[in-house]
Amino acid sequence: MNRCCCLVFNAALGVLDYRVPSGMDVEPGSVVVAPLGPRQIIGVVWDAERLPDQDVPEHKLRPLLQVLPVPPLPQPLRRLIEWCADYYMASLSQVARMALSSSAALRGGGTVTEYRLTGHEPTRLTPQRLAALDLLHDQQATIRELAEIAGVSDAVLRGMVNAGMLEAVTVDSDRPYPRADPHHADPDLSEAQAAAAARMVEAVRAHAFRPFLLDGVTGSGKTETYCEAIAAALEEGRQVLVLLPEIALTEQFLRRFEARFGATPVTWHSSLKSSERRRAWRQVASGGAQVVVGARSALFLPFARLGLIVVDEAHEISFKQDDGVRYNARDVAVMRGHFEQVPVVLASATPALESLQMAEAGRYERLVLPDRFGGATMPAISIVDLREDVPERGRWLAPSLVAALKDRLLKGEQSLLFLNRRGYAPLTLCRTCGYRFQCPNCSAWLVEHRLSQRLACHHCGHEVPPPPACPECNEPDCMVACGPGVERIADEVAEILPTARVELVTSDTLTSAAKAAEFVERANARAIDVIVGTQLVTKGFHFPELTLVGVVDADMGLEGGDLRAGERTYQQVAQVAGRAGRGEKPGEVLIQTRHPEAPVIAALAAGDRDAFYEAEAESRREVGAPPFGRWAAIIVSSEDEAEACDAARAIGGTQPRLDDVLILGPAPAPLSLLRGRYRYRLLINARRSTELQKILRGWLDPLRLPPGVRVAVDIDPYSFV
Ligand code: ADP
Ligand code: ZN
Repeated sequence: MNRCCCLVFNAALGVLDYRVPSGMDVEPGSVVVAPLGPRQIIGVVWDAERLPDQDVPEHKLRPLLQVLPVPPLPQPLRRLIEWCADYYMASLSQVARMALSSSAALRGGGTVTEYRLTGHEPTRLTPQRLAALDLLHDQQATIRELAEIAGVSDAVLRGMVNAGMLEAVTVDSDRPYPRADPHHADPDLSEAQAAAAARMVEAVRAHAFRPFLLDGVTGSGKTETYCEAIAAALEEGRQVLVLLPEIALTEQFLRRFEARFGATPVTWHSSLKSSERRRAWRQVASGGAQVVVGARSALFLPFARLGLIVVDEAHEISFKQDDGVRYNARDVAVMRGHFEQVPVVLASATPALESLQMAEAGRYERLVLPDRFGGATMPAISIVDLREDVPERGRWLAPSLVAALKDRLLKGEQSLLFLNRRGYAPLTLCRTCGYRFQCPNCSAWLVEHRLSQRLACHHCGHEVPPPPACPECNEPDCMVACGPGVERIADEVAEILPTARVELVTSDTLTSAAKAAEFVERANARAIDVIVGTQLVTKGFHFPELTLVGVVDADMGLEGGDLRAGERTYQQVAQVAGRAGRGEKPGEVLIQTRHPEAPVIAALAAGDRDAFYEAEAESRREVGAPPFGRWAAIIVSSEDEAEACDAARAIGGTQPRLDDVLILGPAPAPLSLLRGRYRYRLLINARRSTELQKILRGWLDPLRLPPGVRVAVDIDPYSFV
């Protein structure tokens, strides 16, 4: 090869041709350094025949500078990148960049210098050093990372190095991970588990693309079962990718994995230190990392010998990315399995309707685990009709739920209250003039967080301390909270049950994997009586002593009017209900609602999953919603309100008129201002067979819009704000 095409990581350029100097070896997938003007950029050599011809004459080509010391991106990954770019309407380099997610790794192995506490503590310490000492306990990282953890400047830490309080450690970034042993602790599977495992194991051994829907009730042992497929992949010398929806679940998974396989798997998520990221990326690429458990971004890692992909809690909406490349990791996982020719397991107790439909159509093989493992029974579910069983004034828990909480506390059992709303109250008013505290950057209310003493926007992160007086009428101490958040529920529990040990579990409190691990430990050690949490507690946790679950407001999710509102409510309530009675003692679930007659609530109360899915499928079929039709959204935004509006109108004005394609909007988005940008939306609804991307390209590509306007396309959208 004396010339090549390169994806370069510059949004405006995309693909460039280069000359390959003699003596340099490149092949498709090679990661290279190339000149661009006076600069050097990183690029990936791509299969020339799969790109449009650029026709740059030979003598104009500039030579590549260097091939980086990493294996070329494997062919199946290159096909996946192309598929994602095409399907999600992103550029190739935008997607490829997700595969090169550790820039340090690309520069080779070698060593990194990290620092850790020596244990030496001078008798007199500055307050900053004292604070750092506390926070750096058990940490080892670069100076800059430690400075971030400790919240002090680099200079403070360098001073601590000089004072002998911190010492340097040389870390080899290519050191191997401990090996997992497929037979470290083989479980005794139940009959249903063994049957499901056998199907997956067979597919792993066949090195064939086979998508499975592992559909088992909460507590049926889905993890135990897919671990058999992992064991089979390990025996084959193949790598495994396990995707989890939440970092908070990782710790618990690591512990179970270690018990089963005798070593912890490699983790991959956004809060890894750069040295961990480098090591993980390189070991994935060389084949040394046997099992990787991670967030959705792990999907684009350059596995050398992938043998199996598992997506746990596959229905979770956190698998959908809502900025940058707007992909759905569940769907991309199946595509990766297809290109890699390996099985993909989607595990869930409440599958997405889309996945169930694929199973019904015979495209996925459905493996069913109908019962809880070890004779544990499914919890008894009852409805608390808030119109009859009325909470006291200014309170949110109905008398029957309060009685049940008291009963558990007396028996020494655990309870969990679920409300999917962070903070103390969703809306804060001035009691005198009615002023509503609103975010300056978003069309959203500020949410009061009493624990951190902040008013915060949940969309952009804007935070202010609660003002001493109303900004409108200057009345001091004017704030009134409207409605409940988890913090307020926790306060209510503390008032009703003064002796109970109450723990709040939200993304504000479980801010790291370590905090999540501590929480799991406390819960298992019975150091918590009542857990009050958001959607974070609905997922995956297994607490044997938990026997009561209270859903504070089952109607909340139904209000948004979004396409999947019913399904999401069903999933959340069924999942949180699934936390109850997983041990020897049976569980009870109380669902507070004002609409016991709503189909979702009725199905939950009757424990009739099929009825729910049938009704949901029927209503989606009627409106041509997924999986029966296709949706795409166009989001037009600008910092200038008039410019956003004009651009949206211009896009609306050139819309294609096609039979069977319905275009709604443009209309101001429900969140019409987000992070300082004004937003308009269009929604496209088409038949399944429609080539939606082609229509969108033909429509949007010719448009010339002002540079301040951003147009984002969301294929298969989950969010309608
Ligand atoms: P799910 O993921 O389906 O909710 P889990 O895999 O968490 O269920 O299993 C629930 C509990 O039952 C866990 O504590 C798990 O260790 C235990 N369990 C499931 N299957 C087995 C088995 N075959 N042998 C021993 N314990 C099992
Ligand atoms: Zn905001």
